[in-house]
Amino acid sequence: MDTNTSKYGPVEAAWLDEQIKAFWARTEDDEFECTDSFRLARKGVPAEEQEYEEEITCCGKMDLEFGPSPEGHTYWYGFNYGH
Ligand SMILES: [Zn+2]
Repeated sequence: MDTNTSKYGPVEAAWLDEQIKAFWARTEDDEFECTDSFRLARKGVPAEEQEYEEEITCCGKMDLEFGPSPEGHTYWYGFNYGH
C-alpha cells in the first residue's frame, strides 16, 4: 500500500490530501465496505503506474483521477472494496 503523498513535495501533498479527503467526505458510510489496496500514482510516470497496477487486488475496484494539480500533474488514486 502506497498512498504517501509527501514524496511529491508539500504543495502537491497538501492538494492531494485535500482531494482524497474530499472524496471520502462525499461518500456514504456504507458505500465502500472492507476497503484495502489503497494506491496512488502520478500519471505519466511508468514506474509509478506499474506499481499502481500491481497493487490492484480483487472484488470491487475504484480508481479516481485527480488533476490537474497546482503543479500541473494528474494522479490516480484507487482502492479495492467489498471483500
Ligand atoms: Zn476481494
